[in-house]
Parts: sequence; structure tokens; C-alpha cells
Amino acid sequence: MKLYSPAVIAALKDKHNFKISKNLGQNFLTDQNIIDKIIDGAQIGEKDLVIEIGPGMGVLTAAAASRAARVIAIEIDQHLIPILSETLKEYNNIEIIHGDILKQNLNEIIKQTGMDHVKIIGNLPYYITTPVIMKILEEKTQAQSITIMMQKEVAQRLNASPGTKAYGAITVAINYYCTVHHIADVHRSVFFPKPNVDSQVLRLDIRKSTPVDLIDEKVFFACIKAGFGQRRKTLLNALTGVNGLGKERIHDALQRASIDPARRAETLDLNEFATLANSICEMS
Ligand code: SAM
Repeated sequence: MKLYSPAVIAALKDKHNFKISKNLGQNFLTDQNIIDKIIDGAQIGEKDLVIEIGPGMGVLTAAAASRAARVIAIEIDQHLIPILSETLKEYNNIEIIHGDILKQNLNEIIKQTGMDHVKIIGNLPYYITTPVIMKILEEKTQAQSITIMMQKEVAQRLNASPGTKAYGAITVAINYYCTVHHIADVHRSVFFPKPNVDSQVLRLDIRKSTPVDLIDEKVFFACIKAGFGQRRKTLLNALTGVNGLGKERIHDALQRASIDPARRAETLDLNEFATLANSICEMS
């Protein structure tokens, strides 16, 4: 069964009386070339456990199962579960969990498999891209990488350089946890139904150790949040109050970190944010 064929998707839809949900971001992939790029880009091998977010009708799930030892796919829409049972019936290494990815304990799911080569993949609804990625990273999920199709503008934010408009708090946070690799540009025409935006696939390789030494991770994230929360303000004004420090002490902390207090957050790279956060800790 060619799961990426719009005719097959339409037939499955009719047979199961399935209604495509816009609210759940259901845009199904209809291009084998893009499916191959995602699976190749995710570097899936025969020892791997693949966790897929939002399998839909199973097009990526089947492709992953052909390469991996085991696939666990988590789908929120109960109406897709009988469709997945039909489309994936020839595979004996796939398990479907009906549930919301944001409510899953992924480390527990991984632990129960006893497997330690773990790759996460997904063609995600655009509105949950950032919460899903941050959940995986903040919970220190025991996976090597996350390969995800996302709205092009979101991908550009994750992959932005300091000083650009797309560079923001999420860019610094992602770079703290991961190295970012561009896998593919994806035109909106390869989905059914067609969304209003183009997409990009990124692979985020989760770092084994953090790239900067921090005295207190919470202060580092507080600096990023405060700095970009008011990105037009100078760092001196935006950061006043972080870790309970008044303007004068923030000024001293910036000088100690060799950062001009008149700069704005969008000009600081990851190392400068780390130096600044440590300087604030030392002044506190
Ligand atoms: N992987 C399929 C494909 O590429 O054709 C479907 C992709 S579609 C863009 C997103 C899928 O994620 C849908 O099947 C949708 O029901 C599912 N989904 C949406 N929100 C979810 C959530 N919170 N947890 C798990 N799955 C979710």
C-alpha cells in the first residue's frame, strides 16, 4: 500500500469515515522523496528505537520500521488508531500508543524497552513544535536526536545566527541543548490537505554534555528570558531584577563579563549569555 499516495489517503478516509482535523494539525505527507529524506536525515539504523510523534496514517512509521529495530508511535487522535492497525499490520516491530505527546513520560517509555539507541522523529503540528522540543530537552530524554518537520519560520528561528531578526530565546536554548542540522526544505504542495506554509526538516543532535559551564542553569535561562522578553531594551534595562539584582549590580555584572551594557540580547551568543549568567551569580 502506497501510504504517501493522496488516493490511498482518500480511500482510507472514506473507508474509516475519518474526518481530517485542522485543530490537530493533520496534514499528511504525500511525497516518498521527502519521507526518505526524513528517515535518512534521522540516521536510523538497525539497533535503533524510534519514537515517532503523530504517526497520522503511518507513512513515516512504516518507513522507520523498515530500518529500525523497533518503533513506538504516539498518536493523539483515537480515530486514527484503527487506520494505523490496518496500514501497519505487516510490521511486527511497531507499537502505537494512543495519547498526547505532551503528557507522556518518554524516559519511562524508553526505559521499559531496555534500548539505548533512541531517535525521535515526527511531522509535527506547527503549534506544538516548540513545546514538544522543549519538553524532550528539559526532561533530559534519553535520546540521541530529534528529527522534526516544522514550519519554515520556526526552523529558521532554531537555526538563526546572533544579530538576525530570527535569533531569539528559543535559538539560545536549543543551541545550549543541541547542535542543529538542516535536513530538507519542504514545499507545502507535498501535503494533503495543503497547509498555508512551507516547512523545513531539522535534526537536533542532543549534546552529551553542555557546551558552557554554568554556575546556575536557572540564572542562565532567566537572563535569556529577560533579555529577549524586552528585546528592544538595552541589556542593562532588560536584565535589571534578574536574580534579585538592581540596576547598579547588573551594570557591574555586565562589565565584569566584558559586555557593553548598551548592547541588546539579540547580539549575544551562547558563550556570552553563559559568561553573563555566571557573572550575575557571582554578584548575587
Ligand atoms: N506523520 C503523519 C504524516 O507525516 O503524514 C501525520 C503528520 S500530521 C502533520 C500530525 C499528526 O500529529 C496527526 O496525526 C495528529 O493527529 C497528531 N497529533 C497532533 N497533536 C498531537 C499530540 N499532542 N500528541 C500526539 N500526536 C498529535
